[in-house]
This record gives sequence, structure tokens and C-alpha cells, in this order.
Amino acid sequence: KTFEELGLHEDLLKGIYDMGFSKPSKIQEHALPLLLKNPPQNMIGQSQSGTGKTAAFVLTMLSRVDFSKNKPQALCLAPSRELARQIMSVVVAMGKFTPVQTEYAIKDHLPPDVTRITAHIIVGTPGTMFNLIRKRILDVSEVGVFVLDEADNMLDQDGLGEQTLKVKNALPKGKPLQIILFSATFPDHVRSFAGKFAPNANKIEL
Ligand code: AMP
Repeated sequence: KTFEELGLHEDLLKGIYDMGFSKPSKIQEHALPLLLKNPPQNMIGQSQSGTGKTAAFVLTMLSRVDFSKNKPQALCLAPSRELARQIMSVVVAMGKFTPVQTEYAIKDHLPPDVTRITAHIIVGTPGTMFNLIRKRILDVSEVGVFVLDEADNMLDQDGLGEQTLKVKNALPKGKPLQIILFSATFPDHVRSFAGKFAPNANKIEL
């Protein structure tokens, strides 16, 4: 399969080729048709880093944003600032030929006088993401995609699973929400968390 055959927008194809990718990785080929389907469906993906999972969920977020609305529409949580930065670099590179606006939800990143985030895609860590929502700096009323990367590492750290659930519970209930969870490993506690976090999900293993 080619990226064209996956039905991605032309501006995203330009970003993909600009990054030097010529064809989808195995996980991209399998996951993207499910991730891009309408109505949106939840996904639980088992995948190590190095498989191209980041591009799969980043392309999903970029495909689902309405760039004409200056409101947050996709949230992505990572267990560390460093991973959040890596994910963001993929969002920016793949979105290079789109008008996407991005913002970090990581500690000490935003100036203290910020009152409103108008970016489309927000990438960060759970505690800061939840604080921004709680303070109404991050308006989640238009969020339609919620991604959790490295769920196993997230649950290994004190309080992060709890903060992640707080973010999830703050998202609008009355509208479609696509939840995507990736983890390298699925010990029992991760499996049970994933099942509750992303109900009725398609499961992809790689
Ligand atoms: P990840 O599994 O998301 O951590 O990505 C692993 C590495 O694979 C990253 O350095 C990506 O830039 C690269 N990559 C992802 N998708 C592709 C692709 N379709 N073709 C070539 N390289 C890719």
C-alpha cells in the first residue's frame, strides 16, 4: 500500500514525503484505515517504538482537525516531557504544509499570563494538561481525538494514570470522541486500564 491509498489529505502527503517517508510502515498500513474510518473508532495498539506508531496517531490527529476553528481539537498525552517534545516534532513536521497550530501542555512552558489556548493540537503530560483544563485555559469543548502514548510507562509513574483519567473525564460527553491508546507491553493492569479507557476499541498488535 501507498500513503495515497490510505486516503490522506494532499497537504499531509506533502508533509510525509518531505520527511523522507516513501511508504507506510506495517503498523501504519494496518492502523491508519481503522484510525481514519468514520464514524471514528477507538483503538488500542500494541507496538514498540521504532515501528512508526507516532506517525499513525499524528496523522489521525492532523486528519481530524478543522483548521478553520481556532480551538483545541486533539489532545495527546505522554509520560514524559521528552516524549511530548518528540511527538510534537512529528506533528510539526507532518503538518508542515497545513495551517496547524500546536501548543505544549508541559510544566513551565506556557507564560504565566496565558488565558486561552487557541491551538488545534495540544501535546503534553497529564498533570499539566489537566491543570490547564481545570483553569479553563484549555477549552476542551471541541476535542474529538484523545491519544495516550506509552500507556505502560504512564501507569508505572505515581499519579499519572489518575491524572490521565481526570483529563478523559473532563472531555465532552455528548459528542463523538476517538480514543487511541498505544503501549509497548500489556501486563494485566495496563490491559484493564486500556479496556476502560478506550472501550470497544479495535485492537492492533505488531
Ligand atoms: P516511532 O515508532 O513512532 O517511534 O518511529 C520510529 C522511526 O521510524 C522514526 O524515526 C520515524 O521517523 C520513522 N518512520 C516512521 N514511519 C516511517 C515510514 N513510513 N517510513 C520510514 N520511516 C518511518
